[in-house]
Amino acid sequence: MYPDRVVSGMRPTGAMHLGHFHGALKNWVKLQSELPCLFFVADWHALTTHYDDPSIIETSTWDMLIDWLAAGVDPSQATLFIQSQVPEHAELHLLLSMATPLGWLERVPTYKDQQEKLADRDLATYGFLGYPLLQAADVLIYRASQVPVGADQVPHVEMMREIARRFNHLYGKEKGFEEKARDAVKKLGGKRAKIYNELRNAYQEQGQGEALEQAKAMLDDTQNLSMIDRERLFGYLEGSRKLILVEPQSRLTESSRLPGLDGQKMSKSYGNSIALREDKDSLTKKIRTMPTDPARVRRTDPGDPDRCPVWQLHLVYSDQPTKEWAAKGCKSAGIGCLECKQPVIDAILKEQEPMRERAQVYLDDPSLVRAIVADGCDTARKLAQETMRDVREAMGLSYS
Ligand code: SF4
Repeated sequence: MYPDRVVSGMRPTGAMHLGHFHGALKNWVKLQSELPCLFFVADWHALTTHYDDPSIIETSTWDMLIDWLAAGVDPSQATLFIQSQVPEHAELHLLLSMATPLGWLERVPTYKDQQEKLADRDLATYGFLGYPLLQAADVLIYRASQVPVGADQVPHVEMMREIARRFNHLYGKEKGFEEKARDAVKKLGGKRAKIYNELRNAYQEQGQGEALEQAKAMLDDTQNLSMIDRERLFGYLEGSRKLILVEPQSRLTESSRLPGLDGQKMSKSYGNSIALREDKDSLTKKIRTMPTDPARVRRTDPGDPDRCPVWQLHLVYSDQPTKEWAAKGCKSAGIGCLECKQPVIDAILKEQEPMRERAQVYLDDPSLVRAIVADGCDTARKLAQETMRDVREAMGLSYS
């Protein structure tokens, strides 16, 4: 089987805010030490909704990359690259589009949703309809086994799986496959070949899923097989097709949703965000002027933390004793709102300190970021080219 690999991307929206950090970046930092990860700037995706104003894409891309590095994404552990610098994504997108039913794209829940939300833009475009397919190409081209997503994006990964399955079904047919697969079984050696055949029969004749898993595990452990024979044997287990594209799994992101300064979802366009590297004075001012429970008109009026956006920040940033102190002090009017906000200010500043330090290195020498991305693009491109060789061959486009 292909190695485990995680792929995830973000649109270049410019400097990141703390909502991005808690919603995604923190998870990337954790993932990079567990599995090989590819993280990319989805600059083509930015064009699907903002095709009429590409002027900010480039600056936003570099700003965002500095924020990734500041947040702790480590280029010695993860591959960082820019989508448009690996043009194979576009080739796979085009080839997949040949066989993807239009209905699959039209029924993606975010399609209508986004069109309604972004009603000020004309999104009746071919690029916008096709963006989930481009996302599928972004993932399938690396034969990724896992995609970190929030619950709302699970249907996108489901569609990627359907697309991979359909592709393998249509194009995984190899001339003389059965014979080549049987030869590959022999290469397993007498005992293993026998077990493989028994497990394959148990799965194909009696539908025993456990037998399928055992056979896959055995193939994973087998050293003396070429990559192509290994893939034939994986495909032979389930039918008579080679697995060219891998069906990725959703990996649900454990993230805490950090609300904005007004308690709504944090977003730059709502004007309620705190930048990842917000300047100390500006951060302090933003929190100090945050709205609180409207019932606390005077210092002596008791409040209700559940009606206050500052409390939401306590839930993310404060330890148990601080939360108890704030809740009790709020309800009894024992503390004032400015007092209550101070531990939140301190905690955010503390969280940001190492980020500011890491970012400074790249701000002082932007060529470092360029070099990291150039390396990442090379690595990503090599992987993408491997997949595209198989895809072209399967689709009769290899011309060799
Ligand atoms: S005391 Fe704290 S939780 Fe209560 S209203 Fe003021 S800021 Fe909000």
